[in-house]
Amino acid sequence: MSSDRYPFREIEAKWQRIWDEHGQFRAVEDPGRPKFYCLEMFPYPSGRIHMGHVRVYAIGDLLARFKRMRGFNVLHPMGWDAFGLPAENAAIEHGVHPAIWTYENIDYMRSQLKKMGISYDWDRELATCDPAYYKWEQLVFIKMLERGLAYRRRSTVNWCPSCQTVLANEQVENGRCWRCDSEVTPKEIDGWFFKITDYADELLEWCDRLPGWPERVITMQRNWIGRREGAEFDLPVAGRPDVMIRIFTTRPDTVFGMTYAVVAPEHPLVDRLVTDDAERRAVHAFRAEVARESEIERLAADRPKRGLRLSANVVNPFNGADIPLFIADYVLMGYGTGAIMAVPGEDQRDWDFAKQHGLPIIETVKRPAGWIGEAYSGDGVKVNSGFLDGLTIAEAKRKAIDWLVTRGLGVAKVNYRLRDWGISRQRYWGAPIPVLYCERDGLVPEAEENLPVVLPREVQLSGKGGSPLADVASFVNARCPKCGGRARRETDTMDTFVESSWYFLRYCSPTYDRGMFERGAAEYWMPVDQYIGGIEHAVLHLLYARFYTKVLRDLGMVKVDEPFTALLSQGMVIKDGAKMSKSKGNVVDPDDLIRTLGADTARLFSLFAAPPEKDLDWNDQGVEGASRFLNRVWRFVIAYMGGAFGPPQSPPSTLEAVTAPTTEAGRAFRRLIHETIARATHDIERDFHFNTAISAVMELVNALYTFATSADDAGAEGERAALLREAVETTLLLLAPIAPHLTEELWAQLGHAESIVTQRWPEADPAALVRNELTLVVQVDGKVRSRLQVAAGTPEERIQRLALADERVQPWVRERAVDRVVVVPNRLVNIVTRG
Ligand SMILES: [Zn+2]
Ligand SMILES: [Zn+2]
Repeated sequence: MSSDRYPFREIEAKWQRIWDEHGQFRAVEDPGRPKFYCLEMFPYPSGRIHMGHVRVYAIGDLLARFKRMRGFNVLHPMGWDAFGLPAENAAIEHGVHPAIWTYENIDYMRSQLKKMGISYDWDRELATCDPAYYKWEQLVFIKMLERGLAYRRRSTVNWCPSCQTVLANEQVENGRCWRCDSEVTPKEIDGWFFKITDYADELLEWCDRLPGWPERVITMQRNWIGRREGAEFDLPVAGRPDVMIRIFTTRPDTVFGMTYAVVAPEHPLVDRLVTDDAERRAVHAFRAEVARESEIERLAADRPKRGLRLSANVVNPFNGADIPLFIADYVLMGYGTGAIMAVPGEDQRDWDFAKQHGLPIIETVKRPAGWIGEAYSGDGVKVNSGFLDGLTIAEAKRKAIDWLVTRGLGVAKVNYRLRDWGISRQRYWGAPIPVLYCERDGLVPEAEENLPVVLPREVQLSGKGGSPLADVASFVNARCPKCGGRARRETDTMDTFVESSWYFLRYCSPTYDRGMFERGAAEYWMPVDQYIGGIEHAVLHLLYARFYTKVLRDLGMVKVDEPFTALLSQGMVIKDGAKMSKSKGNVVDPDDLIRTLGADTARLFSLFAAPPEKDLDWNDQGVEGASRFLNRVWRFVIAYMGGAFGPPQSPPSTLEAVTAPTTEAGRAFRRLIHETIARATHDIERDFHFNTAISAVMELVNALYTFATSADDAGAEGERAALLREAVETTLLLLAPIAPHLTEELWAQLGHAESIVTQRWPEADPAALVRNELTLVVQVDGKVRSRLQVAAGTPEERIQRLALADERVQPWVRERAVDRVVVVPNRLVNIVTRG
């Protein structure tokens, strides 16, 4: 079979070489032209590209090439998210240095990407493990430290025992490590944080101002930030004037329904509330039990809630009532204040707990008639609520807060689910955190002129306990930049999500050495107009990058508020019902596909098999179909050039479109050409429906065969040749962003000297789209009764018959004798009756 295939191997290699030699995709700032910054999330250099990569890069390349043909000055760069654990794990397993492993992988993956023929400006390639790159985030770290946006504190962190490192909350999925799936355990540790919570409000507010983002991603970000409005106040412990328990509630209107209170088992006040050894032992045992539960389990609605009654009582400040105090697993230290007032009448989790522990339930909102249920969270009028009775929930919230504030007992408070971003990693292969600990000055940032703090090459990697850098004496023992005395370097490295929070800015001027990026270049290219990447980054990377961009803006470095104007989140590539993965043995290697069927086939299949936001289900028939279609286009154009359908019109410079074909077949064919242009343009630009755009072109190719092989109408030979030419060229232009090698080759074979890359995207001719139909008004005795659609040139007798048979005309002529039917050409039909 392979001998039937077009010579994709030669063609693809040839054009990749020519594009490279001509610097075809080199981007240069040009204030006179509108810019388009098209960016796919850069890959981790894991070793080989997989079909998921092929898909996302095919999507990005389609858009980049399409926008270029639409007249935009396009920036389309590629680089490597090169720090991270797999390099270090490979080093531990195989004894190869992470740097060597990483750069070898980069070389191989670059060669793979080049074989795909993607329109990258390779001059802008970068790798984040390059000191010339991370130098700048070290500088920004120091500026953030000066402004209190980077800080160090001891905290309980998510610890992955397998990766031997801290994980951010965002990196824990169902209580497991996002990278290795090990169960995450809590650990007390000193570490560095970025104060993303300072930007919580702005990050949330801008969620409403990113219409180019998928709603799903915006919702996930909103939920992650988790803004909650409410009140914060103290519950005094009965008989213990020295102890107050601060609680946060979003429902201050329900205070009169408080029948117990709960503090998190890990709450620091618990130890002070314990009165004797027996209670201390009980608390200890309870904590041990809870420690075995994951955070997700503790927050789950549908499971029994464990609790332990403490001997202490607290006082409800609103009515002076003594209420019991519990520690319970469903209250977590990391949320709000780590303590709650429990209102079982209006909160389902409190209701469940109250039922399990035989606690009273007070309803404070009047239930709707016929209400049968447990906790009620709907609207209604306040009852059993003292001075709040008769108010709506909103009024009661305000009044309860006023009551607290005027007595100095509490405040209105906004709480967030979002925590500060823990960026310390106790691993080697990352950017060093540029601070030192001086014996005299304490914590001192590295001096700017000493940057970058370069990651030392010589290191022992065992994967066991603590940062490997701590054992590198030449790194750890340093001079204090302030006093010149002895100092110890920080041995934690930065979370690799710091590097990916600004790489899109570095692409604007990747070799600039006087700053993070050249200002003018960033002002021209930013923001990214279209960002493309997987939904798995909906919270992590996309939230960090938004935060970091705002920090850089506030440092006066960039003007944009947001890094990404529009986002496309593509689905996964699945096979036999599961995500492709080595462990499932369902991996298709892009190398094999490109070798056997060509890069254009791989790209076409990836774009055609599913809309980009949906999962793509791999199937061999689909791949074969994509290959067949490209072969069909190839064979047609070659046959056309060989004169199989009459002498081809050439050279191309003399091409003049026949704007008004003289035959019906010619008109219909030209209409189809231009309908295809209109559909493909709309589907790509408005909806990202690349698959339907491709279907439209496939239909055009079918029509092309039919038109070319049908008997010639009425001797319009020149007209027919021109229409064929227009259809062939349109087909190639519309396929150019999808199958760039094949179209480039055929374009050249048609006699064009200029690359198809530089051609303008075709415009649909409105005149060609007009269906030659007329609308005639139908009157009966001078009154409009209907309208009639007829093809131009329909004979008068047929129009008369159609008018009389029209169902809206029928009632007016059925009972009467028709005298005459007058047809005014192209305008109206008047039926005159004998009344
Ligand atoms: Zn892990
Ligand atoms: Zn010092």
